[in-house]
Amino acid sequence: MIPYSSQWIEKEDIEAVVSVLRSDRITQGPRIEEFERAVADYTSSPFAVAFSSGTAALHAACAAAGVGPGDEIITSPVTFVASANCAVYLGATPVFADIDPESLTLDWREAARKVTNRTKALIPVDFSGSPCDLDEINALAVEKGLVVIEDAAHALGADYKGRRIGSLADMTILSFHPVKHITTGEGGMVLTNDEKLRDRLRLFRSHGITRDAGKLARPSEGDWYYEMQELGFNYRITDIQCALGLAQLKRLDRFVCRRREIALQYTEAFASVPSLVLPRETAEVRSSFHLYVLQLPIEHLKGGRRAVFDALVERKLGVNVHYIPVHLQPYYQRCWGYRQGDFPIAERYYERAISIPLYPRMTDEDVQYVINSVREVLTKLWI
Ligand SMILES: *Cc1c(COP(=O)(O)O)cnc(C)c1O
Repeated sequence: MIPYSSQWIEKEDIEAVVSVLRSDRITQGPRIEEFERAVADYTSSPFAVAFSSGTAALHAACAAAGVGPGDEIITSPVTFVASANCAVYLGATPVFADIDPESLTLDWREAARKVTNRTKALIPVDFSGSPCDLDEINALAVEKGLVVIEDAAHALGADYKGRRIGSLADMTILSFHPVKHITTGEGGMVLTNDEKLRDRLRLFRSHGITRDAGKLARPSEGDWYYEMQELGFNYRITDIQCALGLAQLKRLDRFVCRRREIALQYTEAFASVPSLVLPRETAEVRSSFHLYVLQLPIEHLKGGRRAVFDALVERKLGVNVHYIPVHLQPYYQRCWGYRQGDFPIAERYYERAISIPLYPRMTDEDVQYVINSVREVLTKLWI
């Protein structure tokens, strides 16, 4: 089976993890700050706070932005559920705005229409690794006094107008799940330019507790003294995980380069298939290709997307669908009143979408096998 995505673990990753296991501190040691520093440098963002998952990072970013009961956030329906759930955790209302049919990211014009006096934050998503319309979204946020939390779980290593993702929003969220660009097993990070946000993120990560002498509300009672200043969680990442992340980060450029190389081969191979919509790259937006999504001409295919999916699985390809629009999930329909038909562009996209395998460890033979299989299946089912 060729999966849709997979991690790439090598000897140096294993050695890095083992060296932490042999050390005194397996959590809360020096690797965490080293990893934060290294990712901050890679993305040219001043501050980074690592978390136990991308979802925890999103939750913390919403809390740091001051999202709370009665507030609204606006996000894309074409994303993983965590992009919306993070605000619900804090008692806020999840509002969706439809996607742009070309970029497949949040349509800022639609988002502008959904802004009310309760809107607190915009959570655009760099879907598939392709950065959202950051200039327009940031301008909207400035005009309306909103915080921008960019869900860049797909987009580490991507560029927007010649600048690397990571310092282009109030907060940028990364995930280090094994299907993403680099992995820590589970893990996530918030990048920010704002020191105050950084401090709030750190408090939220660890029970709202600080021992920092400069930040105490009351005089210290001794060396044991700490204060819980806010309600927080245990969202800490371990040194074991960060050692893996540091080792992986050294190969990130190679990983992204290989992903782009494979994506280019796909695009060249499929360009001649009529009515097949391929991922778009523009001069302004350079994707880091977490996903390669085909939008199928389902009107021309016997059995539609389902038949293509099943035929590819039969050929041992781990295809996937990203994503079932969040507003169609039973929870969002039952608890938030969303209905089929609310976001027609997202729904139309979903009916046609299929993600084909894309990960750096794929061999040229794997890539050719995927190309041949997709071509064969489309030809066989064409009507
Ligand atoms: C993976 C992902 C997340 C959540 O990350 P985890 O590390 O799995 O918690 C959030 N948003 C998007 C778009 C993702 O793909």
